[in-house]
Amino acid sequence: GQPLLIVRDLQKHFPVSGGLLGRTQAKVQAVDRVSFSVKKGETLGIVGESGCGKSTTAKLLIGLTEKDRGEIIFDGHALGERLSLKDLRRGVQMVFQDSYATLNPRLTILDSVAFGAQVQGLADPKCLARKMMDRVGLDPNRFAHRYPHELSGGQRQRVNIARALAMSPRLVVLDEAVSALDKSVEAQVLNLLGDLRAEFGLTYIFISHDLNVVRFISDRILVMYLGEVVEVAPVDSIWAEQAHPYTRSLFSAMPSMDPDDRTKEPPLVGDPPNPINPPKGCRFHTRCRFAAEACKTKVPKLAGLSGNADHLVACHLHDAASGHPKAGQGVPA
Ligand code: SF4
Ligand code: MG
Repeated sequence: GQPLLIVRDLQKHFPVSGGLLGRTQAKVQAVDRVSFSVKKGETLGIVGESGCGKSTTAKLLIGLTEKDRGEIIFDGHALGERLSLKDLRRGVQMVFQDSYATLNPRLTILDSVAFGAQVQGLADPKCLARKMMDRVGLDPNRFAHRYPHELSGGQRQRVNIARALAMSPRLVVLDEAVSALDKSVEAQVLNLLGDLRAEFGLTYIFISHDLNVVRFISDRILVMYLGEVVEVAPVDSIWAEQAHPYTRSLFSAMPSMDPDDRTKEPPLVGDPPNPINPPKGCRFHTRCRFAAEACKTKVPKLAGLSGNADHLVACHLHDAASGHPKAGQGVPA
């Protein structure tokens, strides 16, 4: 079927306050040329180092940040054309990492969960809120009249999930939603998210720096580097083969289950380049051990691997027409 969400060529550059570079205002190129789609009912995991554009992408999706350029098509309708920001914000809900900062400390849990539904004019928001609390494992009889500071981090994150669900969203964007939780609580919330996805027919975008968590919950994984998408693939496919040299480094940095793993990529050297003035051509070329002349000038396009069209990568090694001397050999061992 048709994807629930299509993002095309999304761009966001933030002006740097007070900073002038030459005669033009310097800008952080936070998100560039970002394109992807999410199918109904699937979970797309987004990974990458902090500052790679994951969170900015999420905020662009719900209009918390205004895009410079690009298309957001939700359920067949383009934002700004047949889809208003208000409709988009009802269909797409977000859950953030900081469960405390996102809750109003003066509202009871019941009022917090009911608030969005009330604003939307949904029928009987308090009754709906009690149902949702129950569904996320917070007994409304015990928790309805408590305040956020009386709850644990895991309980507060359940409140945020209930609040998002009360809006009957189609898509939920979870930005580091379990990252602040203890491992055992994290596992419980991940299982809850999986159950809710099945029960309500939800679609998720799951952003995290933790590859193992992303692997557990996602159907496909998208990798970002310096504001761009470098690889997108089904979980099993990317676990078996990291086609982009950056993805290989990212996976190699994971605590390994096998300490004698000799297939490990050497760790990344140097800091990520400055996003105000990112490298030309392939943005990863300053840190890539396979970088060739072509990589310094030509921007690699996201394209399917030969024989595995669902596995997309943006790297000249996989493009015979790129002029890269090792093209066609894939990533050499
Ligand atoms: Fe490395 Fe070139 Fe591929 Fe970029 S395009 S990841 S520099 S080999
Ligand atoms: Mg972030």
